Amino acid sequence: MTATATPTTAPFRFFDVQVARTRRLGPSMVRITFTGERLEELVSGGRDQRFKLFLPQPHQTAPVFDDMGDGWYTAWRAQDPAERPVMRSYTIREQRPDPCEFDVDFALHGADDPASPALDSGGPASRWALRARPGDRLTVLAPAVEDNGGVDFRPPPGTDWILLTGDETALPAIAGILSWLSPGTVAKVWIEVGHEDDRQPLPTFADVEVTWLVRSHGRDGADGGPVLDALRAADLPEGTPYSWIAGEAGTVKAVRRHLVGERGFDRRAVKFTGYWRRGATEEDLIAELTAAATAAAGKE
Ligand SMILES: Cc1cc2nc3c(=O)[nH]c(=O)nc-3n(C[C@H](O)[C@H](O)[C@H](O)COP(=O)(O)OP(=O)(O)OC[C@H]3O[C@@H](n4cnc5c(N)ncnc54)[C@H](O)[C@@H]3O)c2cc1C
Repeated sequence: MTATATPTTAPFRFFDVQVARTRRLGPSMVRITFTGERLEELVSGGRDQRFKLFLPQPHQTAPVFDDMGDGWYTAWRAQDPAERPVMRSYTIREQRPDPCEFDVDFALHGADDPASPALDSGGPASRWALRARPGDRLTVLAPAVEDNGGVDFRPPPGTDWILLTGDETALPAIAGILSWLSPGTVAKVWIEVGHEDDRQPLPTFADVEVTWLVRSHGRDGADGGPVLDALRAADLPEGTPYSWIAGEAGTVKAVRRHLVGERGFDRRAVKFTGYWRRGATEEDLIAELTAAATAAAGKE
């Protein structure tokens, strides 16, 4: 998980934003376009640019912070969980200068679950995205400089080809990476989605082969799911690879193990990030990281 126990602010800063418009991309995804004051100071590094999103509680019209200065994280943690903004990690899908706005593509997890009504399933961010309307307000902690620590996709010199895998949550980052690649770069991509109609065009100048994998419902992805099955069966190009893997943490782990253990990839050339974990909210993941950081500090 890329959530850190103590997210740093610089070179990130807070922006109050509002929904300009929403567009359903498919059964499991919605694109939300945000606008706001001073958005010209938000500078995305592109590719898999991550940022933090702060949602109001259901009884609030905008997120309520005790402190938005350098000590914001300590103050946020000390706030009443029923009052403090809900913090989640997302990807800047695309940023445009005129008018100043940016898109975020939200996976509507739970929206396709026949057992529960869409509006009540998923988590706070997924539910918020499903209901979002123009004018809805939230706050983001986003980059103010292009070369920032929120971009992980950094293939080293000498890379011959790129391998990408992910699910709906990683699709915005994969789209950003593909649109960034230079002409002639060879890339092989496997993307797992819930429905055929979740597939979307992925414009790129690179020489890319995309394999869409539609999940069969009821299958637990903890064993690596369809992505691992497809990778196991794949003929991979010759030469030095660089791979970027994101999505459900169990799947990410299984795919990484396959690439390093069975395919002989150099582990330094496998950038892997659990974007979510089955059965755990982002608060659970942050609590784990905080506990681990505290335990490590105690041993020093
Ligand atoms: C760096 C980074 C970038 C990310 N970028 C994006 C992005 O651009 N778009 C995007 O949609 N997501 C993205 N994610 C993933 C997103 O942050 C998580 O899915 C998050 O848990 C959603 O918050 P929530 O409030 O909806 O659910 P939570 O309250 O966190 O979780 C509630 C329950 O839903 C489950 N859950 C969470 N996500 C999913 C899912 N996708 N499918 C099925 N079950 C799920 C959890 O396991 C938990 O049981 C990113 C994550 C990281 C770390």
